[in-house]
Amino acid sequence: MRFVRYELDGSCHLGALIPDGTAVVDLKELGIEKEYSDMISLIQGISQDELLLAERNWHSNLTKTIPLEQVKLLAPIERPIHDILCVGINYRAHQEESEEFFNLQDIKDEQHIYFSKRACRITGPDEGITSHPGLDERMDYEAELAVIIGKTGRNIKPEEAEDYIFGYSVFNDVTARGIQKQHVQWLRGKSLDGYSVMGPAIVHKSQLLFPLELDISCHVNGELRQQSNTRLLIADIPTIISELSQGMTLEAGDIIATGTPAGVGLSFDPPRFLKAGDEVICTVEKVGQLKNRIL
Ligand code: MG
Repeated sequence: MRFVRYELDGSCHLGALIPDGTAVVDLKELGIEKEYSDMISLIQGISQDELLLAERNWHSNLTKTIPLEQVKLLAPIERPIHDILCVGINYRAHQEESEEFFNLQDIKDEQHIYFSKRACRITGPDEGITSHPGLDERMDYEAELAVIIGKTGRNIKPEEAEDYIFGYSVFNDVTARGIQKQHVQWLRGKSLDGYSVMGPAIVHKSQLLFPLELDISCHVNGELRQQSNTRLLIADIPTIISELSQGMTLEAGDIIATGTPAGVGLSFDPPRFLKAGDEVICTVEKVGQLKNRIL
């Protein structure tokens, strides 16, 4: 199941992309009768039985499908319940390209870098990402796999981690490099309005084999800039979920951005930062493609 939020005739709906990705269906068409006001309430409230029924219907002959051209896909979660939890420097090659910029020489592999990213509103698929000229002249992209927590928990063991996952999405951890570098902590450089981008869908975990070994890439104006695979994460998903949840509750609906591979704009000499008009496409195999233009 690939859960989406979409706009049709001026109102917002929850539904799913059909298996071939060319149309959406309303949750009711999938047999989910309960009214969920948004994706967070769906994640927190949907039962295993509802999920199984919906998935069975999803694979059968759906009649009331709405072609993608007739709807506007929205960020699957528009207002996160908490700041987005992020992992920094979580691919080896990205660590190497970032060492000088971040003075990482003394950081050990087991010292995972966690930071949070504030987003009052998440930017959706095909939506413009508003730049902040005068404030951010070093705007950068970071293609990432996002994990959406599906069950509230604390002190989760790595071997139980999958049980706490709802699904996955594509995330662009847009970063103001200049501001990031100005402060010891990264929050401010990561949190400009519009700089959290996610979508187009949340792919339910039942669709993907765990542990995930998915190709991840980023293109800017058609040029391949980042290319890797999620099996190369330094801290893998069970480690991240287990470590973050020690003494700190992870809540159903929480979003974790798992880190970006090598090839960010910062790594080029001279650096290649984003500018108005650029098109950024982040892709995670079997999860989706997230396309945005910089405004
Ligand atoms: Mg990142």
